Amino acid sequence: SIHKDLEEKIARFHQREDAILYASCFDANAGIFEALLTPEDAVLSDELNHASIIDGIRLCKANKYRYKHMDMQDLEAKLQDAQKHRLRLVATDGAFSMDGDIAPLREICQLAQKYDALVFIDECHATGFLGPNGRGTDELLGVMDKVTIINSTLGKALGGAAGGYTTGPKPLIDLLRQRSRPYLFSNSLPPAVVGCASKALDLLMESNAIAQSMAAKTQRFRSKMTSAGFTISGKDHPICPVMLGDARLAAVMADDMLNRGIYVIGFSYPVVPKGKARIRVQISAVHSDEDIDRCVEAFTEVGQKHGALP
Ligand code: PLP
Repeated sequence: SIHKDLEEKIARFHQREDAILYASCFDANAGIFEALLTPEDAVLSDELNHASIIDGIRLCKANKYRYKHMDMQDLEAKLQDAQKHRLRLVATDGAFSMDGDIAPLREICQLAQKYDALVFIDECHATGFLGPNGRGTDELLGVMDKVTIINSTLGKALGGAAGGYTTGPKPLIDLLRQRSRPYLFSNSLPPAVVGCASKALDLLMESNAIAQSMAAKTQRFRSKMTSAGFTISGKDHPICPVMLGDARLAAVMADDMLNRGIYVIGFSYPVVPKGKARIRVQISAVHSDEDIDRCVEAFTEVGQKHGALP
């Protein structure tokens, strides 16, 4: 019964009809495309979508289109070509974790309406903190009633370290319960994880204070770092990639930040393209303004020491 309660709560949180739990969002992404799409259908996927979406799409027999990252002209051209198929599904991350950028969902939904397509978003990097009430990218961009299917995780902002789900129209969720292989052929979530996720959703639904504080903290970090002379990729997202270019510079600066008690991760090729190494900073609801200011000061010192700043 606690699993059923959580599914109902997830659906209410996202203002959808029903929800289905998985052991992880990787499983939710692995299970949806094959259950929903046939060889007569088409799926159109952003080229920078998460590996689990790519794997989920590999498992299905639909016709596959890969559109250029957030490129609406390219998506439109591919939607035109896909008109010959029975059903079209546009699949995108709501927010992309390597660059901290947010999918142009308004434009995607307009195109989906024009070309009679469904919209799927992966909200792992949005659920719980983007939008005025933390509902996610669809709330932030005012398209909650236009996105058909949401997959997300209980293991990131919701804090449970595991668990994922699909939420959307009831007939779709009914279909997944009958056909989705990671749901049918694997254990469900441990009860402790269910309890933790359920409490996290209660906190978010009681008040929007946490979601609002995330927006303010993100803005504080991004604007102070930019004034200090750093380039922060993306926009308005608590994932703040500090762009450095050089892989070695990103690694030594991240080590020096850790020596100052600040845990940030350097990313370089092959996780990100060559010459686009960065340190990814993630702002959390438990950071205080003082924590954020101390982080900016440390970045400034370390950046000057290693020649990343003048
Ligand atoms: N989708 C995206 C965009 C992710 O970033 C991740 C995790 O890194 C996943 C799916 C998988 O989520 P989970 O850890 O719940 O399997």
